Amino acid sequence: MRDPARRTLAATPPGPAAADGGQAGPSRRRLLAAMVGGTAAAAAVVGLAPAFVRHARAADLPRFGLGIASGQPQATSVVLWTRLVGADLPAQADVAWELAEDEAFTRIAARGTELASWDDAYSVHAEPQGLQPARWYWYRFSALGQRSAVGRTRTAPAPDARVDRLEFAIASCQRYDVGRYAAWRHAAAQPLDLVLFLGDYIYEYPSAANAVRPVEGGRVRRLEEYRARYATHKSDPALQAAHAACPWLLVWDDHEVENDYAGLQGEFLEADFADQRAAAYKAYWEHMPLPKALRPDRGAMRMHGRLDWGRLARIHLLDDRQMRDSQVCPQRGRGGSNTVRLADCPALLDPRRTLLGPAQERWLADGWAPDRPWNLLAQQTLMARCSWEDPAGPSRGGTYWTDGWDGYPLARRRLLSAVAERKVPGVVVLGGDVHANYVANLRSDDDDPRSPVVAAEFCGTSITSLGLEQARLDRARAFNPHILHARSDQRGYGRFTLQPGQLHADLQVLADARDAASPIASQGRFVVEAGRPAVQRA
Ligand code: FE
Ligand code: CA
Repeated sequence: MRDPARRTLAATPPGPAAADGGQAGPSRRRLLAAMVGGTAAAAAVVGLAPAFVRHARAADLPRFGLGIASGQPQATSVVLWTRLVGADLPAQADVAWELAEDEAFTRIAARGTELASWDDAYSVHAEPQGLQPARWYWYRFSALGQRSAVGRTRTAPAPDARVDRLEFAIASCQRYDVGRYAAWRHAAAQPLDLVLFLGDYIYEYPSAANAVRPVEGGRVRRLEEYRARYATHKSDPALQAAHAACPWLLVWDDHEVENDYAGLQGEFLEADFADQRAAAYKAYWEHMPLPKALRPDRGAMRMHGRLDWGRLARIHLLDDRQMRDSQVCPQRGRGGSNTVRLADCPALLDPRRTLLGPAQERWLADGWAPDRPWNLLAQQTLMARCSWEDPAGPSRGGTYWTDGWDGYPLARRRLLSAVAERKVPGVVVLGGDVHANYVANLRSDDDDPRSPVVAAEFCGTSITSLGLEQARLDRARAFNPHILHARSDQRGYGRFTLQPGQLHADLQVLADARDAASPIASQGRFVVEAGRPAVQRA
């Protein structure tokens, strides 16, 4: 989704990056303090503190100045990531990594060396194997005489293990120039097992007018530009702390490439969009804790996948960008989204149109877990029907925003009616993209209010990206009764606790996303009980 223009953005000085108390244990607090303090201190050592605060250039940072990360946890493996930066890197460099059972690295569980090379932007994707399930580990890297910060990660439980609890967060849409990452500072202090990042890790735009902090360069289209843009986002110490605190599972959305792209069609219908997308996918893989096997091949990359968290949950990761049909009824001479009425756009109801592509649709339909209480659907955007006009009024059927699931209504109905027919337990749709917190009940047929609720939806607000006018959402609530909660005016992340009997959701929102030191508070708490898909207020 495009960021609505903002009239005034007062620049806020970076606040003190104090670690949160709260529920974090002492070692968690130390780790966070080390991450936050470490990067700033390293910047000061090389004498670029003012420039660093303004905008960090990768070439000016210490070797591990973009931080470390872990992701894709399996029962016996996890991916460890870093990327070397600096002005004078050799063509190739050995990067040693260690994974330990203790924070002091006295009990090493695995170690190895990866070759970081110019071809892959000196990114490292280490994949320790043979680990113990459901266990926390610490990891670090060293190369060229420097050592990285220490990160904490964990493996998933064994697929058949009884699991009482999963603590996770959802987050999305962290446009760098319009805010600061206070939400990450708070999330990093939480005792999370997992972060689910649901898209828009970077934005390809040039800096907004009156940006809180600038991004480098202009509109991003080439490999080197994408790499520089990731470096800008990843230079932020709060984001680094959130990566260092626990493993992430990721899906991408549009802005990792270009606003509103669909398959091989860009928003501006440029002839070389396939090259742009290939560059963007490569840079994405280079900067995320993803395994080597997912390195893009001929401009394509497999993003969708699933992970069993013991017998508690199956997490399905969807890709609704790479294989989708392009948006129907676009604005004249353009690709991308539009807001349309059904009467003006009958193609909306073409049953052949898909958001996931036929193969991924089948893969999803065949892969639900019937034997676990929860099926979490981690995907990009709002699934609930959301009309901006009264469907009973003159628009006769309301409006459809064509980039989200509303633009693919029959694909949505196929998905949700399959959930109903197969009686899939505990389907919870998690999303982002729309820069607002939406909590909704999903029916097997969204046009029929008597059809059963088959899934709950939590579409989470953005880390920083700006939302629509709240008054618009307030008006729309009246004729979208399945949407229980709709707030576009606050930034933050979603905090979830999953247990066999219930899912608890707490929407955490910032007082001021332009302030790195902003406090955070709950905007609303909700519960979904196992065996009862409708959301309840907690
Ligand atoms: Fe976004
Ligand atoms: Ca988006």
